[in-house]
Amino acid sequence: MTNDAITQAQREQRHKELFASKATHMTQKYLRRMRALGGGSDLLEPFFDVLERTYVRWEDVVKPPDTPTVGTYCVQVPPELIYAAGAQPVKLCSGHYTAFSIGDDVVARDACPLVKAVAGFKHMGTLPIYENCSLMVVPITCDCKKKIAGLLQDECPVHTLPVPANKEDEDIEAFVDELYGLAAVLSEKTGQALSYESLAQAIDRMGRAQYELSRFLQLKRDSQGLLHGTHAMAVMNAASYLDVDTWADALGKLNDALAVRARTGQLVTNKDLPRILLTGSPLVFPNLKIPLLIEESGGLVVADETCMGERGLSDPVVPVDRSFDGLMRALAIRALRPCPCPTFADNSQRMYRLRQMIRDYRVEGVIYHVLRGCLVYDYEYRMVEEELEQLGVPVIRLESDYTDQDVEQIRIRTEAFVEMIKLKKGPRGASGSSR
Ligand code: SF4
Ligand code: SF4
Repeated sequence: MTNDAITQAQREQRHKELFASKATHMTQKYLRRMRALGGGSDLLEPFFDVLERTYVRWEDVVKPPDTPTVGTYCVQVPPELIYAAGAQPVKLCSGHYTAFSIGDDVVARDACPLVKAVAGFKHMGTLPIYENCSLMVVPITCDCKKKIAGLLQDECPVHTLPVPANKEDEDIEAFVDELYGLAAVLSEKTGQALSYESLAQAIDRMGRAQYELSRFLQLKRDSQGLLHGTHAMAVMNAASYLDVDTWADALGKLNDALAVRARTGQLVTNKDLPRILLTGSPLVFPNLKIPLLIEESGGLVVADETCMGERGLSDPVVPVDRSFDGLMRALAIRALRPCPCPTFADNSQRMYRLRQMIRDYRVEGVIYHVLRGCLVYDYEYRMVEEELEQLGVPVIRLESDYTDQDVEQIRIRTEAFVEMIKLKKGPRGASGSSR
């Protein structure tokens, strides 16, 4: 090896070490802020630990030994198919600012920060959850996902999953075919053919997690103030890096503890805080600055309508035909029909869901988050704004990037929004007095 080569190798090693140190520092900072919110954050430790293990200790996803990992993006890849093929899914959409700063030099300038962060991690080649994937499944939901699929192909086997723009019967049929194609690729990768039994068992496993999630949402709905919304988002984010049974067990224990707190009136605050619904572009850990800023400013995120939050897992699979084909069709229908992602041409589904959430959670204000470069969410802002105007619910659009540089500007707008809702609520809300 020449001196030049050694220098180059040393330089690369130093670059990786610097990246790891900065990335770890950023993760720790956000975990500290989440813990500092208080309000039962001790109950959240098992979920914080998963995030810490993945992004501070840089460990692989929790899974049974010798199980291959399949990386996924978005909510349209049915995890049930991956479990049925004997593999472990891990969701790779990224919210990391340090990885974003690397990806910023790798992908197009106007791409969204989420895919820039994915590109950054893959480029550095250091994070186990990316490096240990034997396959990545990328649904083609928007231009950014399409282009990142092409880029990832250079580094790892990638299967693209075309997602139709509409949800008519013929679109569902086409998606069923795509799922059969994905099942074949998964079987080839793991050497395990999918069967009715293995798929039904995977659907049951996911169903138990969905049952615990429905308990969690019910507790949050019935006792508002039981939990900070930022913490609820951490619970949902942790599901990306755990096998589904471990996550369901942890959520079951959290639900039991929350049920006791609800019965005994132990809320995160006894103040009548402005109840905020957060919607818009994905909020992937550690990029939880928007919910943190809302809650640090005296608001309470009572619900979120985001793909890394409540939307990610809530819709169950409902087979009408007890055959393998019936299960595949039920998976396709679940992935498309109830999905309020803005990648669909007609997304009135999302408005229906927002109206329902506003009623169920007695929402007093909506914060609409747009990641810079995320055109699909930006397009839908106008529709949401008009609808909310009719409902008399105030809304603001907050644009953000994967950087701390926009924090102060977002903080000022968030504080003003929260104050405005307090004033609207009258003296009780303005003083934040006890219920
Ligand atoms: S909102 Fe966008 S990033 Fe999230 S699941 Fe839908 S298409 Fe994917
Ligand atoms: S939906 Fe938005 S955030 Fe998600 S990949 Fe597409 S552009 Fe990025």
